[in-house]
Amino acid sequence: MRAEPPRSLRLQLPRALLDPQQRDLGCGDGDGLLPVQVELEGGRLAAIRPLATAEGLPLALTPPVEPHAHLDKAFSWAEHSNRSGSMAAALAVNLREGERRTAEQVLQRGEQALDQAWRYGLRAIRSHVDSGGSAGPPSWEALLQLQQRWRGRVELQLVALVPLNHWGTPEGRELARQVAACGGVLGGVLGPPYPRSQRDRQALAQMLTLAEELGCGVDLHVDESGEAPGCGIRLLLEQLARRRPQVPITCSHASSLGLLALPAQQRLAERLARWQVAVVALPTTNFWLLGRRGDQDLAQRPLAPVRQLQRAGVLVAVGGDNVQDPWDPSGDFDPLELLRFSSRVCHSPPWQRQGLMPCITAPARLLGLSWDGIVRRGAPADLLVTSAASWSEFLARPHQRRVLRGGKWLPPPPTEQPASILASLDGSPPC
Ligand SMILES: [Zn+2]
Repeated sequence: MRAEPPRSLRLQLPRALLDPQQRDLGCGDGDGLLPVQVELEGGRLAAIRPLATAEGLPLALTPPVEPHAHLDKAFSWAEHSNRSGSMAAALAVNLREGERRTAEQVLQRGEQALDQAWRYGLRAIRSHVDSGGSAGPPSWEALLQLQQRWRGRVELQLVALVPLNHWGTPEGRELARQVAACGGVLGGVLGPPYPRSQRDRQALAQMLTLAEELGCGVDLHVDESGEAPGCGIRLLLEQLARRRPQVPITCSHASSLGLLALPAQQRLAERLARWQVAVVALPTTNFWLLGRRGDQDLAQRPLAPVRQLQRAGVLVAVGGDNVQDPWDPSGDFDPLELLRFSSRVCHSPPWQRQGLMPCITAPARLLGLSWDGIVRRGAPADLLVTSAASWSEFLARPHQRRVLRGGKWLPPPPTEQPASILASLDGSPPC
């Protein structure tokens, strides 16, 4: 049965997601939550009123945004697994899979990803796309189709992922023109082993010049490693000091920055803030892949120092990165799972503004979305309502959710549908 669109909802919302200009709302409780009644009209929020009590009210958020995914290879683990968990093996399997990739496969993977993401409550995704070699054309063909098909439900932003020096070749410049024409972003990988030559410096300079010429943003996989801490970030900052292109620049991963001593971290964080470089921390894939030392247990977990970067004024978003592909067998495009995980590993609890923003408002800004994700009069009637009544309950276990988009309830996410694999236990065949 289809649920009727609601005309008003009584919820608990984080103060950090409510209009700071609306003074009658107060400050919220110790968890930063406020009981409110929201009035809905024509797919928008018509009014937000404070309530006297939070008793029995569900905790709600505005829909999160995924700042870093790989839709072209999502759900490919079953046929292209990497049970060693090493980065080198992940890359080798990825490259083999890419040689045989078809547009139909990417359409299927992307459609599943977007459908799940939408039902889980995501409203936008930035996906990197393997764009070098034979994987490029089928991946772009399929993802551009999906971008059109999903417009208005999940905004899809695409980043061309190639070896950095590709942008200096005639083929690279042609690809950049195509990427610019569809509103895309230039990507690449900057990580160890760093050559002794000027190769990376030159490739970076060429890429930044091209990005400025075409008005394209830049989003690099930087320092996704436990080696040579912060080396790629330094190379980038060096180039930015020569010529800061007037385009948005994002460093994805920045994992080895977290291995530097505090003063060095701080200096680099301040320089990133000065040059307005955003950072996307990717804790799930980092925790799966990085720091492996044969049979030895880990002592180091390379991860972007989220709080340190925020203190310096860097815009920090948190992303889910790989989903069931050779780089990471887990993940499901569920932003609430990611928020729970990142709260733990980044020591950044969601009752703090800085804990919540990396999943909601910061990625909205990073993707340049028209709505910042703040609940105010006239904003879209888009909410993610959970069955938790407090942050502690939210963190304790997975919760059911209802997703409201444009004032209407969406179908439930995959985790809330009956599990057919369990039906056989009752003697009835799986449907
Ligand atoms: Zn990635």
